[in-house]
Amino acid sequence: MFESIWKEELIEKRPQLEGNKQTEVAVIGAGLAGILIAYYLQKNGKKVIVLEADRIGSGMTSNTTAKITSQHNLIYKKLITNFGQEKAKEYAEYNERAVKEYETLIKELQIPCDFEKKDSYVYSKEETKLLEEELQAARSLGINASITTETALPFPIYGAVKFPEQAQFHPIKFVKALAQHLEIYEKTMVKKRKGEHLLQVSVWEDEKECEYEVQADTIILANHYPMEKIKGLYALRMYQEREKILVIEEPHALPYGMYVAANNKGYSFRKYDKYVIVAGKNYRPGEQTEQDAFAEMENEVKQYYSQGTIAYHMVNQDCITLDKVPYIGRLTKGMENVYIATGFNKWGMSHAMVSALLLTEMICKGEDKKNSIFRPNRFAYKASKKELKQHMVTVIRQIALKPVQVQKKIVDQIEPEQGHILKKNGKRLAVYKEKDGTVYSFHARCPHLGCLLEWNKEEQSWDCPCHGSRFTKKGELINGPAKKDMKQ
Ligand SMILES: Cc1cc2nc3c(=O)[nH]c(=O)nc-3n(C[C@H](O)[C@H](O)[C@H](O)COP(=O)(O)OP(=O)(O)OC[C@H]3O[C@@H](n4cnc5c(N)ncnc54)[C@H](O)[C@@H]3O)c2cc1C
Repeated sequence: MFESIWKEELIEKRPQLEGNKQTEVAVIGAGLAGILIAYYLQKNGKKVIVLEADRIGSGMTSNTTAKITSQHNLIYKKLITNFGQEKAKEYAEYNERAVKEYETLIKELQIPCDFEKKDSYVYSKEETKLLEEELQAARSLGINASITTETALPFPIYGAVKFPEQAQFHPIKFVKALAQHLEIYEKTMVKKRKGEHLLQVSVWEDEKECEYEVQADTIILANHYPMEKIKGLYALRMYQEREKILVIEEPHALPYGMYVAANNKGYSFRKYDKYVIVAGKNYRPGEQTEQDAFAEMENEVKQYYSQGTIAYHMVNQDCITLDKVPYIGRLTKGMENVYIATGFNKWGMSHAMVSALLLTEMICKGEDKKNSIFRPNRFAYKASKKELKQHMVTVIRQIALKPVQVQKKIVDQIEPEQGHILKKNGKRLAVYKEKDGTVYSFHARCPHLGCLLEWNKEEQSWDCPCHGSRFTKKGELINGPAKKDMKQ
């Protein structure tokens, strides 16, 4: 049922690592962020290798909606309030630069990636003063924003804030083209970082796990969710959010613009070829309700595009920081040679480019950026307190309290092709039953930090509500931060 609209674009396979390796820069992760960072560092004279646990572009980049914009919903008023005018300006300028840099790069390398310049809009159906406030905030930071009531949306709106000259593209065609310039090892998982210069890497050869070491002057974590459990306390300062995407074949719809709903009260819309890509319904992994199910979204979206047919169902997730600003820079204070780029808050197209520009300035040009808004070791209490409380409640519930609420249920009562958390001899088990009655059972706790996993009925997976790791119904790792399968 789930297939990405971008997946038809195949990227050539790369070898896995076949021994120890030494390099100037080792980038972990070949998603959009890792690929862009590696490309810009290499362009600026560094010898770079990229280590990818799975395939190039197979992570969150493979299911994105790929709008390239500095308009990150209603962000600028909040940034000015929480961080002040100067830091908000830094955020705006880096992201505006990032949008322009895509155009320059795509022209320079002549990348065929369906790049199109489009205006970006944040719309509201209800009357609100938030749009006017955002307009003033954006303008005060030098952004050429305006307010309009004219859009190509299939319903009436109260108004929309417009940022002109933004863009959209085919993310996998873009990643594929840049990857051709880089030394990348696929099916090569970084298991551990030892100090500032050594990575322990694992590959599978003839069904045997082999471990190698990569020595690097500089290490960059661009693997979406940081692999560090303790350093920088990222697991406390970030969570993941999932969102559904419906792709409707409707050639005449949405002739111009890319749209997101103010404060996510509604769907986002963009066009690609003959399709409209509609995204919405946010929830933490493992915590979706019946209202989050695709059926409800399909009904709503069909009202807008009654002539259209549903071509793809997609689901994606991204890391959300508590203060809504990504972490780009040194992993922790005092660590000179280990960098991170994460927490893109569902705006990873521009933030991945910001990461490439900013880390190049730090690593190749020696700039410090210790006062940057993106500095990972910041703690913006004012901007974070509400989200922090909510995140802590979820984590504590999943680690300590949730088991008390688990119902006793015997295996016979589990429906075929469904999973359930059971209690046996005081232990929590994640049990999945096949159509033919075969039962698979696993430890119900996530191998990352021990949170209780939840069964995701719609996608048939085990998901961690605290940190977003996901596993197939048979316990195989889909995505981290966990680095291994569920324990049988
Ligand atoms: C519904 C939705 C819509 C979105 N739409 C937009 C949009 O319109 N515009 C926008 O700007 N952003 C959007 N985003 C956000 C964007 O998709 C992400 O921020 C971006 O794709 C993240 O890229 P990445 O390179 O950081 O991560 P990934 O693409 O996940 O890449 C990380 C890579 O690291 C690898 N990896 C992980 N662990 C290891 C390890 N231990 N060793 C080696 N490799 C490892 C993974 O296999 C993966 O390939 C959207 C997000 C969602 C959820």
